[in-house]
Amino acid sequence: MPKANPRHPKFPIPGGPELRAKGWRQEALLRLLENVLAVGEDPDNLIVYAALGKAARNWAAHRGIVKALTEMDEGQTLLIQSGKPIGLVKTHARAPLVIMANCNIVGQWAKAEVFYELQRKGLICWGGLTAGAWQYIGSQGVIQGTYEIFMRIAERRFGGDLHGRFVLTAGLGGMGGAQPLAGRMAGAAILCVDIDPERARKRQQIGYLQEIAPDIDTALQMIDAAVKEKRALSVGLVGNAAEVYPEIARRGIVPDIVTDQTSAHDLVYGYAPKGMSLDQVKGLRDDGQGQLMAASRASIVEHVTAMLEFQKKGSEVFDNGNLIRTQAKEGGVTNAFDIPIFTEAYLRPLFARAIGPFRWMALSGEESDIARIDDLLIEMFPDNKIITNWIRLAREHVPFEGLPSRIAWLGHGERTMLARRVNALIAGGDLKGPVAFSRDHLDAGAMAHPNIMTERMKDGSDAIADWPLIDAMMLCSSMADLVVVHSGGGGYAGYMTSCGVTVIADGTDAADERLDHALTNDTALGVMRYADAGYEEALDEVAKKDVPYIRPD
Ligand code: NAD
Repeated sequence: MPKANPRHPKFPIPGGPELRAKGWRQEALLRLLENVLAVGEDPDNLIVYAALGKAARNWAAHRGIVKALTEMDEGQTLLIQSGKPIGLVKTHARAPLVIMANCNIVGQWAKAEVFYELQRKGLICWGGLTAGAWQYIGSQGVIQGTYEIFMRIAERRFGGDLHGRFVLTAGLGGMGGAQPLAGRMAGAAILCVDIDPERARKRQQIGYLQEIAPDIDTALQMIDAAVKEKRALSVGLVGNAAEVYPEIARRGIVPDIVTDQTSAHDLVYGYAPKGMSLDQVKGLRDDGQGQLMAASRASIVEHVTAMLEFQKKGSEVFDNGNLIRTQAKEGGVTNAFDIPIFTEAYLRPLFARAIGPFRWMALSGEESDIARIDDLLIEMFPDNKIITNWIRLAREHVPFEGLPSRIAWLGHGERTMLARRVNALIAGGDLKGPVAFSRDHLDAGAMAHPNIMTERMKDGSDAIADWPLIDAMMLCSSMADLVVVHSGGGGYAGYMTSCGVTVIADGTDAADERLDHALTNDTALGVMRYADAGYEEALDEVAKKDVPYIRPD
């Protein structure tokens, strides 16, 4: 039975044993599509997160997808182009059920203005990373990543602990909403600025944000008191980051850590320029795009200038993957890239071993299935401190949104082992239903993004998009259930290409084979990509785990 969804009553949370499709694989993908809308930011408009990241191009396309998933047999493959179903072709039972390409624009034309025009004509849509591929699981999707970043900074600069430290950030949207909880889990006093009071309230309602301050003075007093008492606290402040950051700098306050997760990648539908109400911004989105782009960029210049000032005074400042430095540089802040990107600064040694944001969703809708897998994870990886610490914290602090899900950073071999053990549990009747395995597109072999994932690669291969394309073709050959190639990024054009994958564990031998091939090959490619770029950790992983990398002569 689907469950009521208090946040979006028209979009119930799927679950239960009854199938509407002809098999669990199809039913699973249908439930994942339903789930991204149930936990999305604006499901009435099919928007899941990241400003315009959509689950389907429009409602007619959505109906077509639901019909196809419900009626298709194994042995057919549904083709989806930028959120619209375009065909159901005959393949075979080991082929993917769904393959997609979202928002890929030919190089010379990959510009924000071209994207907006194609979108206006209804020819394309931005799938975010996980929205269009039905892999989004709410703010939980990035929470461990955000927590690990904070802990890496804590280890490097603050004796391994963020108690008594002030973190300043902005953006309480789908992904940015993970920040207050991740900061609190790391022990910090974290201030999160968002221009939209509704977003702040939403995060508070679902338990990610503790307090909302009525004004900047109160917010700073609350943070100051928590810092002095070394008390973990998250505070939201409704305001424009382009005004609040410079004001905090003007008062001579220097936070310990500064970042930002507003939707700065989109100057029209994402970032809100200062000096305008949200209604004014919304009113300009369709007809005043040029004006809005210029105003947003001018605000981002002030926003990033304040971040650079904090950096000069000693704050640890980093870009959290929203292209804010790129926009600021295009607006004339020549030293915007003095701010490092989080991937290179803190996480690359993990990615070089293909350790990244792996995730699973209990299709039964039952939280007990996730609890059982949590136990299994701790039993399987007792010496992996990142995992055991994370699962303990996640169990205590992370509320479920939509289908009960978990994210955990696992690497090559580990993902496959876990998924196959889960499949065996399903076969033995130890779980209430099948489980979908997926990962963020921000994964070792899966993404070319020269301003986020692959910035300053050792061998200079930052902009080469062959890797995610190889990944996608390999995953189709490796029997994954859903495979997707996305492009987009800043203004949804030209900034990145990524590959996404989902594999369903339904307890069958065929699922065991699919999980084994797809998950093993996916992380093997991740290790190979970093080995090929000359990373020691990856070469070590090749040797230790027998990764089939062909070393150059
Ligand atoms: P979202 O569109 O759901 O939310 C963005 C939030 O920013 C909104 O709540 C909006 O009100 C707020 N905002 C916009 N302009 C503002 C301003 N000037 N001052 C204060 N608040 C402002 O987006 P999201 O899903 O939360 O993603 C945020 C950004 O993070 C995007 O650019 C996305 O691409 C990026 N992202 C990064 C990662 C990563 O791995 N680090 C992962 C996912 C998304």
